[in-house]
Amino acid sequence: MASLQNKVVMVTGAASGIGRESALAFARAGAWVFGADRDTAGLRQTNQLAASEGLRFSVSEVDVSLASDVERFTAHVLASAGRLDVAFNNAGITGSAHRIEDYPVDDFDRVLAVNLRSVFLGMKFQIPAMVRSGGGAIVNTASVAALTGPGGMSAYAASKHGVHGLTRVAAMENAARGIRVNAIAPGWTETPMVAANSRQNPRFAELARTAIPVKRGADPKEIADAALWLASDAASYVVGQMLVVDGGMTIGGFEL
Ligand code: NAD
Repeated sequence: MASLQNKVVMVTGAASGIGRESALAFARAGAWVFGADRDTAGLRQTNQLAASEGLRFSVSEVDVSLASDVERFTAHVLASAGRLDVAFNNAGITGSAHRIEDYPVDDFDRVLAVNLRSVFLGMKFQIPAMVRSGGGAIVNTASVAALTGPGGMSAYAASKHGVHGLTRVAAMENAARGIRVNAIAPGWTETPMVAANSRQNPRFAELARTAIPVKRGADPKEIADAALWLASDAASYVVGQMLVVDGGMTIGGFEL
């Protein structure tokens, strides 16, 4: 199992889904984890789960789209733990589903702010903290929508293509300083986000399942395992990559 023994780790989106499972997995791997989210009740639940296992864990209410919140959160981690070794920039939203000509401009801006601006802001404050700590690892959450063009999801796909691009730029700028930057691209993952999409559009669930070669969505724990590996020294020579974890969804082939 990948180890994060004695590492100081920050995770956004820690109140739910992939972020919650990853935060718990990082703490089980030996890290002191600082979880952030805007959902206070969900954060409290994650904190209780961590406490029930005796994990080293603390939580903060943060809106990842706001520079002041992201700066304050990073400063809080540094003031508490004195260093920052790993960051998992994972919080995100899907946004509404419309064709481009019908897509509300405000909705588009909101998705970009929560999914892409947040990753830029996260790294803007995390990188100097990691330089002072002697290096580190950043993992950003993209999506299979960083590789594909799902109709109706222009804002989401644009934001996730952007996360892929930002990840490569940050990796290039920081590799020589001992900071590895990578991304994960989950496919269909059984989280509250997906449940909400399926409620909005029942065809969504059926379509996605028929398109996945393994014929099931991922357990969020399976995505957490990939994020943990990328964040750990087990991936010490992996730089600027996007690891696709999608049950084969983007293989793009067909079976005769
Ligand atoms: P989720 O809804 O279960 O969790 C997302 C978390 O982000 C929530 O706790 C939410 O409160 C938080 N969040 C949203 N906006 C925020 C903000 N402005 N500030 C702080 N926190 C905020 O969803 P999930 O499926 O676990 O998604 C996590 C990440 O994985 C997202 O970036 C998502 O795009 C990505 N992803 C998910 C899937 C999937 O199928 N579930 C697939 C590919 C990528």
